[in-house]
Amino acid sequence: MQYADRLNNVETSAIRELFKLLGKPGIISFAGGFPDSAMFDVEGIREASNLALTQEPGAALQYGATEGYQPLREQLAAFMASKGVKGLSADGLIVTTGSQQALDLIAKTLLNPNDVALVEGPTFLATIQCFRLYGPQVVGVPIDAHGVQVDKLEEMIVQHKPKLVYLIPTFGNPSGATLSLERRLRVLELAVKYKTVVVEDDPYGDLYFGEAPPPSLLALSDQVPGSREWLIHCGSLSKVLSPGLRVGWMIAPPELLARATMCKQFSDAHTSTFAQATAAHYLKAGRMPATLAHVRSVYAERAQAMGDALKRELGDALTFTQPKGGLFFWANLTGVGGKLNDGAELAKRAIEKGVAFVPGAPFFANNPDTTAIRLSFATADVEKIKEGIARLGQAL
Ligand code: PMP
Repeated sequence: MQYADRLNNVETSAIRELFKLLGKPGIISFAGGFPDSAMFDVEGIREASNLALTQEPGAALQYGATEGYQPLREQLAAFMASKGVKGLSADGLIVTTGSQQALDLIAKTLLNPNDVALVEGPTFLATIQCFRLYGPQVVGVPIDAHGVQVDKLEEMIVQHKPKLVYLIPTFGNPSGATLSLERRLRVLELAVKYKTVVVEDDPYGDLYFGEAPPPSLLALSDQVPGSREWLIHCGSLSKVLSPGLRVGWMIAPPELLARATMCKQFSDAHTSTFAQATAAHYLKAGRMPATLAHVRSVYAERAQAMGDALKRELGDALTFTQPKGGLFFWANLTGVGGKLNDGAELAKRAIEKGVAFVPGAPFFANNPDTTAIRLSFATADVEKIKEGIARLGQAL
């Protein structure tokens, strides 16, 4: 079979290959980017879907508008307003089939072969792969504990003249890092100064454990005149409510949103109306604050347990910053005491000891850090976390 040339730019990830091993009985997995299915608000979602089927069965089961189910768009605009976003109407966003689809629509709408897309190094692997399908060069900008290094970002914008800059400013995947307020404002200034599109991917911003993180780039955009014109924001219900609903959204300047909507029309026509009507009723019932409080407290406890266990079991063989939200630990093997410092090799040995995580190198578009690893604390309970990290210590 002759396949399209665009597939030459991508490969199934090393991480997918590793996931195949996770079916082994007794494995404790810190590998996935999933929320814990035991925490889904099944009762609330059941009630919301019942309301969708009793109050507007026609709309919930019929074809719908590509832009999204209007009552959901209104609920999402109100949700964003509650998080400090000003002047957003229901028509200023479209509903997407997960935020993953928003990333694809952005790439489809903006990226040509020979363009450059700047991303964080490391960043969400599926974004790198999705962008590459459209042929651009994807280049990583270094980050530190406070997110992307903005001086370096400016240098690289000047050097590469990128078509877009993709950032996960809050509790990044995989880095867990959060961009400081000062750097957020700098990013918005750079967008205006260099007329560069900035994509803010924000599936984790609501999952904070203590103090709330700084406002989103979108919420801050009214402090930097002109920046809203260059900003795209992607949101998702996946990590806080349910990824199976496949409800995400995209906020962008009107013309760009219209073009992305056209691309979506040719792709899936619209996101499941049933899922959208269910999500709309869920939000309308006012359940989100309690759901968020619950998931934050459970993940906070697990993150603490994992941090404590990592210090206890791995000591100075591993360095990390304790995450303040999100789902991930991002850590570096130091090789201290002659111990292994290769993430991929340790991942293999760890599977033999009954614990799984993902090596960090595949999350880099270029210049991979082979000492990095990513551990998710979302799906294992505290006891499993302790046991799993003890196994990791043995593997090391
Ligand atoms: N962006 C990031 C940074 C993610 O981590 C994920 C999920 N792992 C997504 C987007 C896609 O999520 P969804 O399509 O379920 O909204």
